[in-house]
Amino acid sequence: MSETALRPSPISPTVDFSAEGIQHGFLRLPHSRDDSAWGSVMIPITVIKNGEGPTALLTGGNHGDEYEGPIALFDLARTLKLQDVSGRVIIVPAMNYPAFVAGTRTSPIDKGNLNRSFPGRPDGTVTPKIADYFQRELLPLADIVLDFHSGGKTLDFLPFCAAHILPDKAQEQKSFDLVEAFSAPYSMKMLEIDAVGMYDTAAEEMGKVFVTTELGGGGTATAKSAGIAKRGVLNLLRRAGIVAGEAEVVPTQWLDMPDGDCFSFAEDAGLIEPLVDMGEEVVKGQILARIYPLGRTGAAPLEVSARMDGILCARHFPGLVKAGDCVAVLAVVL
Ligand code: CA
Repeated sequence: MSETALRPSPISPTVDFSAEGIQHGFLRLPHSRDDSAWGSVMIPITVIKNGEGPTALLTGGNHGDEYEGPIALFDLARTLKLQDVSGRVIIVPAMNYPAFVAGTRTSPIDKGNLNRSFPGRPDGTVTPKIADYFQRELLPLADIVLDFHSGGKTLDFLPFCAAHILPDKAQEQKSFDLVEAFSAPYSMKMLEIDAVGMYDTAAEEMGKVFVTTELGGGGTATAKSAGIAKRGVLNLLRRAGIVAGEAEVVPTQWLDMPDGDCFSFAEDAGLIEPLVDMGEEVVKGQILARIYPLGRTGAAPLEVSARMDGILCARHFPGLVKAGDCVAVLAVVL
């Protein structure tokens, strides 16, 4: 090993990625701690391989309080039949497993936000070790990557599947084709607030066809949002030719996040009064929400206004906000 070479990942899979058939197992990550001296974090994984063909890497629980992805993927892992697969499907329903078990966005072990931890490192704490394993072991196996997200406890979203505008237009077109196949009610050309350290960016920089979602939020799922996730993942696998059958495509409304004006942030803390609901049209300058100071009557609320025309596609979920919270996200209807 040269001085600059990274050491091997400490994670050992109990599955063989090259073996034919269905395997349910774990990514075992040693984690020595007070209640288990030689203990491990056991991240559930399913690998389904049937002959030659492309590989799809399907993930949920990148943030631990987002549930449509884990629901769809635990369901898929137990129901997908080997004879319906051509190629390989790798399913990790709860990527940041410690966060998923705790029901929190970040890991309770090291406070790591997995989706800001890429490329990770093999000698870091638990979260960067998970990122490193995906960066160096799982992403290189994949042709297409679907990473489920939702709003978590603090955001709510219109249900959409999304991909990013990319410098490589062929890669971008393949991603948007899978977004269309996913058939969420909305489909987004997505802009990130801060793309550094994201799994998305890691996958895209490797040339992978990368698709993500935001399917609701508030730290729970609904029958409708879980249904969108379940149909979407099967549709995506069918369109990619990995699962037999035609995608059940339904009409979708395409949306665009053209620039940073789509985001509105709270400039002070307080009680938030929404003046616009999800999916409603707004015009530039329109008041989206009022923020009342918590400690006195008679004071004027702070107003949060739209910085562009569009529809409300995401909003802060809890009833109280802090300074700096993302209050509203607008998107342009295409
Ligand atoms: Ca998320």
